Amino acid sequence: MNIRYFQKGFNFSQDGPGNRLVYHLQGCAMRCPWCANPEGLAPEGGKLADVNALLDEVDRSRSMFFDGGGVTFTGGEPTLQFEALQYALQALHELGINTAIETNGTHSHLSDLFPLIDHLMIDYKQPFPREHREITGFPLETVLNNLRRACAEHPHVVVHIPLVNGYNASPETIDAFAKTLASFPRRNVYVEPLWYHEYGKEKWERLHMPYTVKNGFIPDKRKREIRDAFKAHGLNVIRT
Ligand code: SF4
Repeated sequence: MNIRYFQKGFNFSQDGPGNRLVYHLQGCAMRCPWCANPEGLAPEGGKLADVNALLDEVDRSRSMFFDGGGVTFTGGEPTLQFEALQYALQALHELGINTAIETNGTHSHLSDLFPLIDHLMIDYKQPFPREHREITGFPLETVLNNLRRACAEHPHVVVHIPLVNGYNASPETIDAFAKTLASFPRRNVYVEPLWYHEYGKEKWERLHMPYTVKNGFIPDKRKREIRDAFKAHGLNVIRT
């Protein structure tokens, strides 16, 4: 079985706990205008690898997984290659290697993977259905179902909220994010605001794709207000 990725490398404490080997899997069903990895959006491209060869590579890297580290699959969107991802997670689980995924929550069978994931990072990009579809190109419903189930069932969830001025950071939108998450049954859920940055901009331009975000930065004062709004709804906020 093959798996396609466009980037891999070690990262400390950025894509899950400890030192991690991070695979960016190819392809994404969304089209967020601020995406930092536009080279990973198309289903083709990147490098095609045998999953067992990837697992051998992970096994040889075990001494590097210090401070609770392990393997993270991100993207693009890792669940687009569902079978290969499930196979890899199952094998890593059996090897006792810590697993994490970072997902946009679009796969309708995401919860099948919960028992194989130690650290689940799931995005929540827009709380309003019409805006969600307009901005990401994908309907909110499946994402919301996955968020709800993840919060209720998974033992360790970090909800990533990428916040971009002009797209999802107005007081009304922040209030809706907070109210929706606060209404879910929650086991062990953290909210991590991801403040807009421009790391992807040059890549979009290099790929001759129009980069449409303008003035996306969130001022520091507004960041504090947003954190406070989440906390006021009883949410655990990770400071970034
Ligand atoms: S979900 Fe992630 S990878 Fe996909 S377009 Fe949005 S930011 Fe990029």
